[in-house]
Amino acid sequence: MSAIASNPSANTPTLQARSVRKSFVSGRVESTVLHDLTLDVRAGELTLISGPSGCGKSTLLAILSGLQPADTGEVRALGHDLHGLSMRALEAFRLQHTGFVFQGFNLFPALTALEQVELPLSYMGLAKDVVRKRAVESLEEVGLGPRMSMLPIELSGGEKQRVAIARALAKQPELLFADEPTSALDAANGQIVIDILHRIARTHGTTVLCVSHDPRLVHHADRVLAMEDGRILSDHVPPAASAAITEHS
Ligand code: ADP
Ligand code: MG
Repeated sequence: MSAIASNPSANTPTLQARSVRKSFVSGRVESTVLHDLTLDVRAGELTLISGPSGCGKSTLLAILSGLQPADTGEVRALGHDLHGLSMRALEAFRLQHTGFVFQGFNLFPALTALEQVELPLSYMGLAKDVVRKRAVESLEEVGLGPRMSMLPIELSGGEKQRVAIARALAKQPELLFADEPTSALDAANGQIVIDILHRIARTHGTTVLCVSHDPRLVHHADRVLAMEDGRILSDHVPPAASAAITEHS
């Protein structure tokens, strides 16, 4: 029987993991990277997962976003049991409902910024004019309106990451995942990316789950989960977010 209620109410978290375990085998050695990890991500929040290198953050994000399966346990996203979906249904779910921003941007070298953003929208089967409108709006939202026709080689690291964010954002996903989105950037560009992620959660109501060891992100997160050695050690609301809640209540 499922450990997670299958009839989500308004208060049900948007993303849930129950007893998620993952091990990797290297040679004859098997090492457990996630130890029966349980976690609820609340809708519309910017949740930060922090922790030292190698503690399992990227593996956790890949499992929660449906990129990788867990060995055991359950992941439920927007009411869907990800492990219960066929490969095809999982692909469709990821395309329609999730966006992923990678540390290394993952842009296509031969496509302009506009084409990068349009590509997944075309895969979604949207009409050509809708694809163009959404792509342009998303690029404008991240401040890249004037750079739409440029290739990755003509863009700075910060601009490339903003294209990647626009590409995810244009899909209008309920869930946005970001794995170390600022670690390849200098301080100023990292700050711009952080501000954009924060604004996406605020203005679009998108649930943003971000893995990072960038300390500046802590001040912009609604909630911080600290991981160590495949386990969540603490779960807290950072001071800046608590102050904002008090101000508005
Ligand atoms: P983090 O993102 O916190 O740095 P990762 O989730 O990338 O950590 O990795 C956690 C551990 O799992 C590391 O020891 C890493 O070497 C190992 N690992 C990750 N992916 C694989 C893989 N595909 N095969 C073998 N080991 C892996
Ligand atoms: Mg990582």
